[in-house]
Amino acid sequence: MATELRLLGRHQADEHDTGFTYNGVTFSQDNLHTFAGLNAVDTRDFVEQTFACLRDHGQVCARMGAYKPRTSPYSFQGMGSECLPWVFELAGKYGIKVISMEVTSEAHVDEINSALAQTGQPTGVMLQIGTRNTQNFELLKAVGRQRELPILLKRGFGITLDESLMAAEYCASEGNTKIVFGLRGMKTNFGDPHRNLVDFGHVPVVHRLTRMPVCVDPSHSVGIRAASPDGILDVFHVAAQGVIAGANMLLVDMHPNPSKALVDAAQAITLKELPYFLEDVRIAREAYEKRRALAASARCAVPKDVSKEA
Ligand code: PEP
Ligand code: MN
Repeated sequence: MATELRLLGRHQADEHDTGFTYNGVTFSQDNLHTFAGLNAVDTRDFVEQTFACLRDHGQVCARMGAYKPRTSPYSFQGMGSECLPWVFELAGKYGIKVISMEVTSEAHVDEINSALAQTGQPTGVMLQIGTRNTQNFELLKAVGRQRELPILLKRGFGITLDESLMAAEYCASEGNTKIVFGLRGMKTNFGDPHRNLVDFGHVPVVHRLTRMPVCVDPSHSVGIRAASPDGILDVFHVAAQGVIAGANMLLVDMHPNPSKALVDAAQAITLKELPYFLEDVRIAREAYEKRRALAASARCAVPKDVSKEA
């Protein structure tokens, strides 16, 4: 499998850097960015409150959905292109440099580029490929053909890891290797009462097999705002599990008033919870860095890959 990942795979004697820089923000297997924000853009006021809160807490990345692939054709489909100019202008006003935004067709990429040009590039966009489109090969090739905007490719929720990694290679094979690979839980009832079965044990696996930074989405994995007796929300717990395993990006649904959110209201954290969430993430990241240092100091004692020694 790894050999089939011609562009994204980590090959022997291949020590070159992982990651990329986009709009002043560097993504790699060695750092971490949090993308909190609206699952779906709704009102200007909620968007502005969200960006202001992110800026106040030192964040330069956000999530904002304009195009929403929904299970039912009768559910809210997202505001679409009409919201893009004011969303981008507000992002610029609050110093947001990268917005993760799902696209479901090539036309959406054009609409995003036009709105960015029309508003004078006040921010940047990472094109999110949702789990329902992981094997939409024409879409993968289209986002791969353009080299400007980076890609967040979410793992398919019902296919193997290898199949999802090959989907990322599809984008790369068209020329764009600025790709972050996203874990967001797998669709099975074995994860109940969570919406999906958390798959963050694959963070180190993707690091080992590829050069891609890895994102975890605790909101879509858990899907609910339940907390355990320790007082910690399950969304926070699984985010920390991803971070302590070395995740490089967190995608988190956050809303000023979750009960008014038009999509996935049950899983959003609130703006008040953001500083607490960021501190919890910082603790988990620090623990990861300590674990990494420990592994480096113990390397003489533990073979890198025990299976190869047998
Ligand atoms: C999302 O992040 O808004 C989303 C729809 O996620 P997924 O594709 O993982 O379901
Ligand atoms: Mn969703």
